[in-house]
Amino acid sequence: MTNAKPLDLAIIGGGPAGLMAAEAALAARPELTVCVFEAKPSLARKFLMAGKSGLNLTHVEQTKAFLSRFGRASNKLKSQIEAFPPYELRRWADDLGAETFVGSSGRIFPAVMKASPLLRNWLRRLQRQGADVRLNQKWLGWDEKGHLKFRDVKTGYEQLIDADATILALGGASWPKLGSVGDWVPLLEEAGIPCAPWKPANCGFDTDWTAFFKEKFGGEPVKNVRLSIGEEALRGEFVVSDKGVEGSAIYTLSAPIRDALEENGTATVLLDLMPDRTAAQLANRLSVPRGKRSFATHMRKSVRLEGVKAALLRELAPEMAQAAALEDPQALAQTIKALPLTLSGARPLEEAISVAGGVRWSALSFDLSTRERPDVYCVGEMVDWEAPTGGYLLTASMAQGRWAGNAAAEALMPAEVDDGLSDEERDFAQDLPSFTQESD
Ligand SMILES: Cc1cc2nc3c(=O)[nH]c(=O)nc-3n(C[C@H](O)[C@H](O)[C@H](O)COP(=O)(O)OP(=O)(O)OC[C@H]3O[C@@H](n4cnc5c(N)ncnc54)[C@H](O)[C@@H]3O)c2cc1C
Repeated sequence: MTNAKPLDLAIIGGGPAGLMAAEAALAARPELTVCVFEAKPSLARKFLMAGKSGLNLTHVEQTKAFLSRFGRASNKLKSQIEAFPPYELRRWADDLGAETFVGSSGRIFPAVMKASPLLRNWLRRLQRQGADVRLNQKWLGWDEKGHLKFRDVKTGYEQLIDADATILALGGASWPKLGSVGDWVPLLEEAGIPCAPWKPANCGFDTDWTAFFKEKFGGEPVKNVRLSIGEEALRGEFVVSDKGVEGSAIYTLSAPIRDALEENGTATVLLDLMPDRTAAQLANRLSVPRGKRSFATHMRKSVRLEGVKAALLRELAPEMAQAAALEDPQALAQTIKALPLTLSGARPLEEAISVAGGVRWSALSFDLSTRERPDVYCVGEMVDWEAPTGGYLLTASMAQGRWAGNAAAEALMPAEVDDGLSDEERDFAQDLPSFTQESD
């Protein structure tokens, strides 16, 4: 049994992409019947989790720079993000009572630094717009007639839903306990919608710390360093984890690190521990006579290398962390400026902040509908794009939801009946007083 009256629009996945699709479709066509189906007992769990670290909604960058963060996918996302650029997203949040501010690195956060007040107001507004929400509904694919199959995860009850259009907003495959498990890939591939394999993005990496280093410095942030791999370089900070390294600078470099791992089995990131000094300046200071000072004291007093940074030098270049190294201050300075950190693997997908992979762009038309099933759209992190942290992930997910919501609303417009009139004749007929029309 299916629903007696088909839904206009079924949206599957109640994360930011799906909710934005519902909002856009109902704003464009308030008369539509729109229902959001969500497998979890509540909506937008990953969005709420993002709120725990302040909810970095977007970034202050100009659209061109912003788009460049999406690498190979930036051209594909261009129209969607240009139609909902960072300043529009900010205005959207303000309209929902979540006043935002720009942090020192250009990242934009709600003033309250959490997601729940914004989400609460958003859901209230969606309800007022007429969106229906059904929770605990796991989408299982299509039946042979093209109806959507759902199972109630609490009762096991299965039902079929007939919908004129469907927007899939199923998320990626990281942090599965929040709902995005990525198990729909075979369903789409069977339907002729190809997907690229999942890869972790914005993730930590493994390295083999000694037991001493791990115990003493595990969890410690390494601030103001320059990291480089191949052509990519940035200044920032990372964190020493139990298994290796994580944190913002590592996440930003995760794509080139991942590529190097795939190609060579290991990846080497060069750390500049003292980015504010040149190698020549360091060598000059290191060549000052040491006197009776220990190596560690000399390093601290001469170039201010101490704490976790000095420990990294000892850990990664033990031969350079000895008094003998002071006999060659140039070589020591070079090592401080380019300390090789070798990584052996990426942390598992489940631990990553986001993913690469998912529905291939070749499967999608300009309006984000699938070529194979033009009444089915795909949006958000389930599509094959990736970006660093910095608000790019939420902005792109919501921009895609908005784009497809508008596109679906337009596609659901009733076809115009051909009345045989030209545009000019139709305009003229509309301007006639009604009695003239009645007397016709
Ligand atoms: C710890 C953490 C912090 C983050 N912080 C930030 C940040 O500060 N800024 C930022 O830009 N990004 C951040 N992100 C990433 C951001 O949250 C995601 O990119 C974004 O939520 C993706 O939105 P989405 O709607 O595409 O997918 P999701 O938010 O994953 O939503 C997908 C929804 O689909 C549902 N679903 C999946 N399969 C089915 C099915 N078969 N049937 C029914 N429903 C289904 C899921 O339960 C889920 O609710 C963070 C992520 C994590 C894990």
